[in-house]
Amino acid sequence: MKKTCPICPHHCTLADGEIGRCRARMNTGEEIIDLNYGRLTSIALDPIEKKPLYKFYPGSWILSVGSFGCNLNCPFCQNYSISMADSTFETQNTTPEYLAQLALELSHKERGNIGIAFTYNEPFISYEFVRDTSKYLHQVGLKSVLVTNGTVAEKPLRELLPLIDAMNIDLKAFNSGFYEWISGDFETVKKTIKIAAESCHVEITTLIIPGANDSVEDMTAEAEWLSSISPDIPLHISRFFPRYRVTDRPPTLVETVYNLVNIAKKYLHNVYAGNC
Ligand code: SF4
Repeated sequence: MKKTCPICPHHCTLADGEIGRCRARMNTGEEIIDLNYGRLTSIALDPIEKKPLYKFYPGSWILSVGSFGCNLNCPFCQNYSISMADSTFETQNTTPEYLAQLALELSHKERGNIGIAFTYNEPFISYEFVRDTSKYLHQVGLKSVLVTNGTVAEKPLRELLPLIDAMNIDLKAFNSGFYEWISGDFETVKKTIKIAAESCHVEITTLIIPGANDSVEDMTAEAEWLSSISPDIPLHISRFFPRYRVTDRPPTLVETVYNLVNIAKKYLHNVYAGNC
């Protein structure tokens, strides 16, 4: 029987055995599951600043894990080898209990570890795995962090938020045309940021692509809008390098990034240049 996936605004309607556009969720006939449950494509102990999160336990380390699939289709994706992959991708398989235990063991080691960051690909499409692992993390006193594109429906977002301590949310541009280019929805991401900021620590990342989202007007509007939520929300303005299908544009000029940082600083207290 056909079922509709509730996780993101694409709301894929899937026949028995059919997989959604994120390549990570399937209708088994009885329910829609995350095919990438416990299947890791990447695992690393990273400085928290690499997520990037600059105002959440600065100087700490976090066990960072990712799987395959994504619900957006960014032609400039910096992690396309896993985000565009499907369930045939070779993975290291784990369980929420094992991963939380590993995070706990690492917290006692020399560098320390504050928890787990679900990153590298879109974590909301692994909704059940993130939820189950986050419950174990909280039981042992560790943190759960999401690095996300913010493309999630309101109900699953609100249900997961009590288990989440911090999020870095991509705000890929401040116009709906850009979001149409990447098969996303501008209003959904704005709503995610607003709701998340009421519940956990939130930082924002905007990757600046020459000729696509580098206008002064858009950055002014973005910073002004973020400041209406809180002028303390950290904003990371990052430099683009040609990747995946966008190889015909040059890397963003460093001076463009710093110019946009200065504009954003008129509205926000914490603005950082990234990849410069
Ligand atoms: S999470 Fe995946 S399957 Fe579910 S609606 Fe979004 S794209 Fe479709």
